[in-house]
Amino acid sequence: MQCEVCGRQIFGNPLRAIIEGAKMTVCGKCAKLSSGYWEPKPQRRAKKRAMRQPIIPVSRRKPVPSVTETLELVDDFGKRVRQARRGLELSHEDLGRKIREKVSVLRKIESGKMVPDLVLAEKLEHALKIKLRVPPSEPKTQFVTLSKPRGTTLGDLVLLKEQGKEEKKQRKQS
Ligand SMILES: [Zn+2]
Repeated sequence: MQCEVCGRQIFGNPLRAIIEGAKMTVCGKCAKLSSGYWEPKPQRRAKKRAMRQPIIPVSRRKPVPSVTETLELVDDFGKRVRQARRGLELSHEDLGRKIREKVSVLRKIESGKMVPDLVLAEKLEHALKIKLRVPPSEPKTQFVTLSKPRGTTLGDLVLLKEQGKEEKKQRKQS
Protein backbone atom coordinates (compact mmCIF):
# COMPACT_ATOMS: atom_id res chain seq x y z
CA MET A 1 0.00 0.00 0.00
CA GLN A 2 1.39 3.34 -1.06
CA CYS A 3 0.51 6.83 0.08
CA GLU A 4 -1.52 8.55 -2.58
CA VAL A 5 0.01 11.91 -1.72
CA CYS A 6 3.72 11.35 -1.32
CA GLY A 7 3.95 7.92 -2.93
CA ARG A 8 5.84 6.37 -0.06
CA GLN A 9 5.12 2.95 1.34
CA ILE A 10 2.57 3.08 4.16
CA PHE A 11 3.62 1.15 7.20
CA GLY A 12 0.83 0.10 9.51
CA ASN A 13 -2.71 1.20 8.88
CA PRO A 14 -3.25 3.46 5.88
CA LEU A 15 -5.28 6.53 6.80
CA ARG A 16 -8.33 7.61 4.86
CA ALA A 17 -8.01 11.35 4.71
CA ILE A 18 -9.79 14.06 2.80
CA ILE A 19 -7.16 16.30 1.25
CA GLU A 20 -8.35 19.29 -0.77
CA GLY A 21 -11.76 17.67 -1.07
CA ALA A 22 -10.45 14.39 -2.44
CA LYS A 23 -10.69 11.07 -0.65
CA MET A 24 -7.18 9.71 -0.34
CA THR A 25 -5.44 6.84 1.35
CA VAL A 26 -2.36 8.35 2.86
CA CYS A 27 0.47 7.84 5.27
CA GLY A 28 0.46 9.27 8.76
CA LYS A 29 2.58 12.23 7.74
CA CYS A 30 0.33 13.29 4.89
CA ALA A 31 -2.79 12.71 6.99
CA LYS A 32 -1.81 15.80 8.94
CA LEU A 33 -2.63 17.88 5.85
CA SER A 34 -6.17 16.51 5.68
CA SER A 35 -9.31 18.43 6.42
CA GLY A 36 -11.09 15.33 7.62
CA TYR A 37 -11.45 11.60 7.29
CA TRP A 38 -13.73 9.50 5.17
CA GLU A 39 -15.22 6.10 5.77
CA PRO A 40 -15.04 3.30 3.24
CA LYS A 41 -18.39 1.93 2.15
CA PRO A 42 -19.31 -0.74 4.68
CA GLN A 43 -20.10 -3.35 2.05
CA ARG A 44 -19.09 -6.35 4.08
CA ARG A 45 -21.00 -5.29 7.14
CA ALA A 46 -24.15 -4.56 5.17
CA LYS A 47 -24.03 -8.01 3.65
CA LYS A 48 -23.62 -9.70 6.99
CA ARG A 49 -26.46 -7.74 8.49
CA ALA A 50 -28.77 -8.54 5.62
CA MET A 51 -28.08 -12.22 6.02
CA ARG A 52 -28.60 -12.22 9.73
CA GLN A 53 -31.86 -10.32 9.76
CA PRO A 54 -35.07 -11.77 8.39
CA ILE A 55 -36.59 -9.85 5.53
CA ILE A 56 -39.04 -7.34 6.93
CA PRO A 57 -41.68 -5.74 4.77
CA VAL A 58 -40.92 -2.08 4.05
CA SER A 59 -44.01 -0.85 5.83
CA ARG A 60 -42.95 -2.52 9.07
CA ARG A 61 -39.31 -1.51 8.98
CA LYS A 62 -39.92 1.83 10.68
CA PRO A 63 -39.75 1.53 14.44
CA VAL A 64 -43.20 1.89 15.91
CA PRO A 65 -43.16 4.83 18.30
CA SER A 66 -44.28 4.05 21.80
CA VAL A 67 -47.77 4.99 22.86
CA THR A 68 -46.68 7.85 25.11
CA GLU A 69 -44.86 9.51 22.25
CA THR A 70 -47.84 9.49 19.96
CA LEU A 71 -50.41 10.71 22.46
CA GLU A 72 -52.10 13.92 21.47
CA LEU A 73 -53.75 16.48 23.66
CA VAL A 74 -57.51 16.41 23.26
CA ASP A 75 -59.06 19.48 21.68
CA ASP A 76 -61.48 20.07 24.53
CA PHE A 77 -58.89 19.73 27.28
CA GLY A 78 -60.16 22.94 28.93
CA LYS A 79 -63.70 21.65 29.11
CA ARG A 80 -62.55 18.32 30.47
CA VAL A 81 -60.47 19.94 33.18
CA ARG A 82 -63.28 22.24 34.19
CA GLN A 83 -65.88 19.49 34.25
CA ALA A 84 -63.67 17.14 36.24
CA ARG A 85 -62.66 19.85 38.68
CA ARG A 86 -66.29 20.80 39.28
CA GLY A 87 -67.22 17.14 39.56
CA LEU A 88 -64.71 16.83 42.38
CA GLU A 89 -66.01 20.07 43.88
CA LEU A 90 -62.63 21.70 43.73
CA SER A 91 -62.05 25.40 43.22
CA HIS A 92 -59.24 26.67 41.04
CA GLU A 93 -57.34 27.32 44.24
CA ASP A 94 -57.92 23.80 45.53
CA LEU A 95 -56.71 22.27 42.32
CA GLY A 96 -53.79 24.68 42.17
CA ARG A 97 -52.67 23.59 45.62
CA LYS A 98 -53.14 19.96 44.78
CA ILE A 99 -50.90 19.99 41.73
CA ARG A 100 -48.79 22.97 42.75
CA GLU A 101 -49.77 25.09 39.84
CA LYS A 102 -50.72 28.74 39.60
CA VAL A 103 -54.43 29.47 39.66
CA SER A 104 -54.01 31.82 36.70
CA VAL A 105 -52.50 28.99 34.67
CA LEU A 106 -55.40 26.70 35.51
CA ARG A 107 -57.89 29.36 34.52
CA LYS A 108 -56.14 29.86 31.20
CA ILE A 109 -56.09 26.15 30.53
CA GLU A 110 -59.76 25.77 31.32
CA SER A 111 -60.66 28.60 28.99
CA GLY A 112 -58.46 27.09 26.30
CA LYS A 113 -56.18 30.12 26.20
CA MET A 114 -53.22 28.03 27.24
CA VAL A 115 -52.14 24.59 26.24
CA PRO A 116 -50.74 22.57 29.14
CA ASP A 117 -47.36 21.04 28.53
CA LEU A 118 -46.81 17.33 28.92
CA VAL A 119 -45.92 17.55 32.61
CA LEU A 120 -48.89 19.70 33.51
CA ALA A 121 -51.25 17.60 31.42
CA GLU A 122 -50.08 14.54 33.32
CA LYS A 123 -50.55 16.26 36.65
CA LEU A 124 -54.08 17.27 35.72
CA GLU A 125 -54.85 13.79 34.50
CA HIS A 126 -53.73 12.27 37.79
CA ALA A 127 -55.36 14.87 40.02
CA LEU A 128 -58.68 14.86 38.21
CA LYS A 129 -58.63 11.24 37.07
CA ILE A 130 -59.30 12.20 33.49
CA LYS A 131 -57.63 11.69 30.15
CA LEU A 132 -56.28 14.73 28.39
CA ARG A 133 -54.14 12.89 25.91
CA VAL A 134 -55.34 10.30 23.47
CA PRO A 135 -53.70 8.27 20.75
CA PRO A 136 -54.08 10.04 17.42
CA SER A 137 -57.42 9.07 15.92
CA GLU A 138 -56.04 8.97 12.41
CA PRO A 139 -52.68 8.00 11.04
CA LYS A 140 -50.80 11.01 9.77
CA THR A 141 -51.44 10.55 6.10
CA GLN A 142 -52.92 13.96 5.48
CA PHE A 143 -50.09 15.03 3.20
CA VAL A 144 -51.05 12.24 0.83
CA THR A 145 -54.59 13.45 0.34
CA LEU A 146 -53.54 17.10 0.26
CA SER A 147 -50.94 16.59 -2.43
CA LYS A 148 -53.21 14.42 -4.53
CA PRO A 149 -52.95 15.84 -7.99
CA ARG A 150 -56.17 16.89 -9.61
CA GLY A 151 -55.71 15.39 -13.02
CA THR A 152 -58.13 14.99 -15.86
CA THR A 153 -61.40 13.64 -14.53
CA LEU A 154 -63.82 11.40 -16.33
CA GLY A 155 -66.07 14.42 -16.79
CA ASP A 156 -63.30 16.32 -18.55
CA LEU A 157 -62.65 13.40 -20.85
CA VAL A 158 -66.29 13.20 -21.87
CA LEU A 159 -66.31 16.92 -22.48
CA LEU A 160 -63.21 16.68 -24.69
CA LYS A 161 -64.79 13.88 -26.68
CA GLU A 162 -67.94 15.87 -27.24
CA GLN A 163 -65.96 18.88 -28.33
CA GLY A 164 -64.08 16.72 -30.80
CA LYS A 165 -67.31 15.46 -32.29
CA GLU A 166 -68.64 18.96 -32.64
CA GLU A 167 -65.50 20.09 -34.43
CA LYS A 168 -65.70 17.18 -36.88
CA LYS A 169 -69.33 17.94 -37.58
CA GLN A 170 -68.56 21.55 -38.22
CA ARG A 171 -65.74 20.63 -40.57
CA LYS A 172 -68.07 18.37 -42.56
CA GLN A 173 -70.66 21.07 -42.82
CA SER A 174 -68.29 23.73 -44.06
ZN1 LIG B 1 2.36 10.44 2.42
